[in-house]
Amino acid sequence: MYPDLHTHSLYSDGSETTRYLLTTAVAKGLSHLALTDHDCISGVRELWQHLPEAHDSASTPLLTVLAGVEISCDWNGLEIHVVGLLETPEAPALQTLLGEQQQRRVERMAAIDSKLAAAGITGLGSALAALPAAALTRSHAADFLVAQGHCKNKEKAFKSYLAKRGKAYVAAAWCSLSEAVKAIESAGGIAVLAHPSRYPLTRRKLAALLSDFKLAGGEAMEVSYANLDPNAKKRLLELAAEFDLMHSCGSDFHTAQASWTALGKFPKLEPSAIKNAIWQHPKWHLIEQAGRHVTEASLAKYPD
Ligand code: AMP
Ligand code: MN
Ligand code: MN
Ligand code: MN
Repeated sequence: MYPDLHTHSLYSDGSETTRYLLTTAVAKGLSHLALTDHDCISGVRELWQHLPEAHDSASTPLLTVLAGVEISCDWNGLEIHVVGLLETPEAPALQTLLGEQQQRRVERMAAIDSKLAAAGITGLGSALAALPAAALTRSHAADFLVAQGHCKNKEKAFKSYLAKRGKAYVAAAWCSLSEAVKAIESAGGIAVLAHPSRYPLTRRKLAALLSDFKLAGGEAMEVSYANLDPNAKKRLLELAAEFDLMHSCGSDFHTAQASWTALGKFPKLEPSAIKNAIWQHPKWHLIEQAGRHVTEASLAKYPD
């Protein structure tokens, strides 16, 4: 088992097509690929449109694709990400929540546009309108600021403009952890806390987050991802045991330009921890069955 369960496409703030994701996942020998764009399933819809249903394909698959999403949540004023691996991505309650999240994204980008205009920078709105993305993110605004020569790189664009204390920072009124988890459950999914070490939290606060996530119905957390140092990983494995959360893994792939978050680039779950691996979850095989198989034939026909 070598699944990458956290990836992005150009339907949110990734820069690659779903075809790139498929061909690269096959080339790297991944067993499963979950597409988990921010607050949208447009990329999943595209994959589903062009890949036959799993039970339809006779030959052994090169790769199994799973439906997923990454939902931005508010937890005590902090933005927390919850990944959902989904059995029925079109479930109405999930779609209602994602619609609300998209509306919040549109409103926030309009507010960022106004703040930038007040600082003498115009044109964000039309730049965003030209993008293929279904989910507008601050990452797109950062790209715009770099492309227009206002910032040297994305890091600086976040620091000067888009991050907290930036000149054009706008908070988003994201849904709560429990709203996200409930919506994922309504889609037969497993809720996974994304990249727990990346939040600006003390050890105590991180434990409080995991406790609240578990109470909200969360069932797993990521314990292996890019740039996770061994001490932080050890701590995450302890916390997973303490809060009885299963283990997930994923690259958080966004772009082929960033080699440190290449597809499949994270340590595999240790054999000793396999009993806690997310693929042991009772819902996993249903999510897998609802996924799509990639074969030589389907890949050959898959559009660019
Ligand atoms: P949003 O969901 O609109 O708040 O956008 C957040 C996205 O921007 C994240 O998912 C990251 O992909 C990206 N991001 C956040 N902080 C930074 C940063 N400091 N540098 C580059 N990208 C970032
Ligand atoms: Mn992102
Ligand atoms: Mn995230
Ligand atoms: Mn992500």
